[in-house]
Amino acid sequence: MSEIIPHWLDKQSELSPTDIAIESPNNDSISFLEMRKQSRLFAKKLAFLGVKQGDHVGILSGNSVQMVITIHALTYLGAVSVLLNTRLSSKEINYQLTDGAVTFLIVEEGMYAHGKEALHQLHLPIYTYSEIDRTDWKEVLLKREIDLDDPCTVIYTSGTTGVPKGVIHTYGNHWWSAVASALNLGLNDQDKWLASLPLFHVGGFSILMKSVIYGMPIYLLEKFEVTTAHKAITEKGVTIVSVVSITLNKLMDQIGDTGYPNTFRGMLLGGGPASKALLDRAKDYSIPVFQSYGMTETSSQIVTLSPKHATEKLGSAGKPLLPAQLKIVKDGIPARQEVIGEILVKGPMVTKGYFNKEKANQKLFQDGWLVTGDLGYLDKDGFLYVIDRRKDLIVSGGENIYPAEIEGVLANLKEIKEAAVVGQTDKKWGQTPIAFVVRDGSGISKEEIISYCQGQIAKYKVPKEIYFVDALPRNASNKIMRHILVDWLPKGDMESEH
Ligand code: ATP
Ligand code: MG
Repeated sequence: MSEIIPHWLDKQSELSPTDIAIESPNNDSISFLEMRKQSRLFAKKLAFLGVKQGDHVGILSGNSVQMVITIHALTYLGAVSVLLNTRLSSKEINYQLTDGAVTFLIVEEGMYAHGKEALHQLHLPIYTYSEIDRTDWKEVLLKREIDLDDPCTVIYTSGTTGVPKGVIHTYGNHWWSAVASALNLGLNDQDKWLASLPLFHVGGFSILMKSVIYGMPIYLLEKFEVTTAHKAITEKGVTIVSVVSITLNKLMDQIGDTGYPNTFRGMLLGGGPASKALLDRAKDYSIPVFQSYGMTETSSQIVTLSPKHATEKLGSAGKPLLPAQLKIVKDGIPARQEVIGEILVKGPMVTKGYFNKEKANQKLFQDGWLVTGDLGYLDKDGFLYVIDRRKDLIVSGGENIYPAEIEGVLANLKEIKEAAVVGQTDKKWGQTPIAFVVRDGSGISKEEIISYCQGQIAKYKVPKEIYFVDALPRNASNKIMRHILVDWLPKGDMESEH
């Protein structure tokens, strides 16, 4: 039987009507009651334009209060928000609109100009926020209750390993994700969460859900901008910030001698691996960092290192949150402690599957467990260490090589701006590791890099070839796409020394 709860924005505007839901640097803060009022009116305008229950409505927008109103408005109609990454090319956007069965598209003013022609080829009704604002409204029955089994959003994965997949999140997925996070980090009366990650990614979207479910204000930035983000912490009372490695580093560049106020609780770090150097740096600045592991499919974090273990288990992503389970599977059976295998997770924040991807969905679950495609191990105390993606594993002469380990070693060289490692087919060894390196301009040679690696890692892990490139291929989420680098490799088998 499905679970029914009151509409969360109705509920929050009944419990804390005058409390601030969203605050932003240009001072257009909005209370829960006002948010409800505006969202319901916007819903009626969308209804006038033909949007109805069950429709997939695309949103192509940077972060704004209007975007939040739009998302809530769609929940009042029982329509599904399909959130589109604004950094995608027109071709990629068109793919997601078609793949996501979008029948109505809402765009932020500026975005419209960006892909107008390409978007028009799809023959979709496309409206900007202000066009919708100017239309009439229709009296329709708005939802008073939420069925936790109903679909709420479709959010695309980053497309790091291939074409992005549209993940369906139910209301229940978002609900449990927010509850699980509160059970882990606790909730303070003073809490104010900085939302500078894009809301079209699940990491950003989850902050919005926390706001309406906890009754907590969020400090919303159009996009991450380090000075504004720093000020939000030091002057605007922000207590928690969701960050990825790059933004955390930038914030630490700004911190100066004064540090953060005592009310600041910490940084929730996610989205990808965190280097030891980054975590050590945060420790030096006494910034609490809650490392986490999650994916679009798990509605953001599903494993988090709780503050009390942050130092002792540096580098670990932590333990599965209260309503979640995790196991490591190797060769089809649960792996022992410290043994690397594939990470499987289960819990009410885990998606039921991808939209319109029957084949992928069949492989996504094993006996009710989500197969993440990531490799990791649990230490003797049950803390998770994420190693790398299964797809990127290099097997050389029967030895497993994890590209992330070698990339970590290369990143220690100050002459290297960034590096990525992939496997090259090799007649003798099956595969051997090859590195693509972006230099800082200092002209470090291949030989110097290789000789540095020889002092750090086993011989079979040392890259057999180094290719210098100007930039690494990154997707719209700024993640390096190793599969593209494989295409850059010279064709034909190599034969190398181990
Ligand atoms: P796609 O699925 O389209 O290839 P993606 O997997 O990068 O793209 P996301 O859902 O945005 O899409 O990212 C989730 C992935 O990010 C995880 O599966 C994992 O590989 C990586 N990741 C997340 N947290 C961590 C972490 N703490 N350590 C290492 N990797 C992480
Ligand atoms: Mg993925």
